[in-house]
Amino acid sequence: MSGNNRDFVLLPLGGVGEIGMNLYLYGWGRGDERQWIMVDCGVMFGDDRTPGVEVILPDISFIEARKDKLLGIVITHAHEDHIGALPHLAHRLDAPVFATKFAAILIRHKLAEAAWEDDVELNIVTPGRPFVLGEIDIEYIPVTHSLPEPNSLLLRTPVGNVVHTGDWKIDETPSIPPQFSFERLREIGDEGVEALVCDSTNAHREGESLSEQDVEKSLERLIGEARGRVAVTTFSSHVGRIKAVSEAARKTGREVIVAGYSMRRVIEAARECGYLDSSHTFLEEDAYGYLPRDKTVLLCTGSQGEARAALSRVADGEHPCITLEEGDLVIFSSFTIPGNEKAVNHIINRLAARGIDIIRNTPETRVHTSGHPPRGDLKRYYELVRPRRLIPMHGEMYHMLEHVEFARAQGITETALLEDGKMLRIAPGPAKVIGEAPSGRLHVDGKLIVPAENGPVRARRKLSFVGVIVVSVALDAKGGVRGPAQLVADGLPEYAADGEVMEDILLDAADDAMDSLSRARRRNDEAVIEALRRALRRAAMLEWGKKPVVHVLVQRV
Ligand SMILES: [Zn+2]
Ligand SMILES: [Zn+2]
Repeated sequence: MSGNNRDFVLLPLGGVGEIGMNLYLYGWGRGDERQWIMVDCGVMFGDDRTPGVEVILPDISFIEARKDKLLGIVITHAHEDHIGALPHLAHRLDAPVFATKFAAILIRHKLAEAAWEDDVELNIVTPGRPFVLGEIDIEYIPVTHSLPEPNSLLLRTPVGNVVHTGDWKIDETPSIPPQFSFERLREIGDEGVEALVCDSTNAHREGESLSEQDVEKSLERLIGEARGRVAVTTFSSHVGRIKAVSEAARKTGREVIVAGYSMRRVIEAARECGYLDSSHTFLEEDAYGYLPRDKTVLLCTGSQGEARAALSRVADGEHPCITLEEGDLVIFSSFTIPGNEKAVNHIINRLAARGIDIIRNTPETRVHTSGHPPRGDLKRYYELVRPRRLIPMHGEMYHMLEHVEFARAQGITETALLEDGKMLRIAPGPAKVIGEAPSGRLHVDGKLIVPAENGPVRARRKLSFVGVIVVSVALDAKGGVRGPAQLVADGLPEYAADGEVMEDILLDAADDAMDSLSRARRRNDEAVIEALRRALRRAAMLEWGKKPVVHVLVQRV
């Protein structure tokens, strides 16, 4: 095969057009010969629009059909939106997974919980030591973000260097090592960078990131001023913040108690990797009752209003060991992920109603800093690597549009706005969409993985608005009625406006519909089903003003 018409492409299957389920395929070669590298394999979380579904995965059918050409799954960092789909999907792909130690520990836990531990090869990568997959050289480049070991990736290809930023911000004084790799990125920029595939989450925000050190100082001041108990809630993987709370507690003479399984697991992983030494002690929940109020800091999960997390149970007074009372303080050392506002407000109101003080992040309180780059940080990254072209990722359409506009204003004239499922030729340039692949979402529904589109959730969502009527009629082969109709209505009001029982009204409507059908028509199941369905929907509309889902069962006896 001639080398001239091979190219390097990017095909996102998730993460472009949404914040979540990051999954980027990079391909080198030509047509069916192309070899693929997957970068990240994350989830998104369900919301009101996906009743019964908490976890959403990207549709991987494209790469699953070519898994013999998938050389590896390269993980940038350990957030759920980058690793969360591995326990659901990795065993279907037969490809080795690469991750740094901290991420690998958490991935191994997840695979073990899903009982796929023995089916997925997991390799630990050391940043700064490149490795090769096919003809692509891959180097992890440490950056700063909101958990240990976030990395940008240098993909050194036969047609030039591509930098995939992963999630990042610039923090010159992070609370845990390593430092942001200014020098290495500048060297790569000197070598030349064909394309920068870059985090867009905060591309609409001006300014530069606040450092973790600033947040630590705020926490120390607030905890120092508090008279009662202090609870700090944050993202469970945010080891830097966990460490900051521990430092603040030590300086103010308090002990830290950790509530929340996921946070304890992260603390163990952080200890194993050396990010928390023995000077940071975290007590178990059962120590809570023995400590004086002003000697306690509770560190807990639930900053997003998650119903099963520690904070929600504390707010309801339902936690077995932990209580808060009037005069205690809860600090939300977090921001509310869009979509979670209602759940968070619900918790805040329940805490406030009990006289508990609440501090959220504002420009004055400075109790949180985002892990993603605002414009000031983006500008500095561009200046380090000086890319020929910019491809926004990790953002909703609005974030990516803002990113493109900002990059152009900074002199990066070639940009490419992608969508999930679009295959972009990155190099040799110019960047151009050259193909499409099936993309979409999968729902984790109980033990099963089902399609999001036309899957069971669609019917479930409809039912959540209108309820369901099931009616059963018994007929003989000649169309004679053999007994009264039976009916169950679920999710409908019990009584009509005049006080009559709704099910009685509906049964009458069913009986009338049967009476008005000729015996000949009653011999036809379809005709019976249709007549009853219409009659019940009409009756419900008349009495209730809504049309429920109606199921008709015809038994021939
Ligand atoms: Zn992310
Ligand atoms: Zn992240």
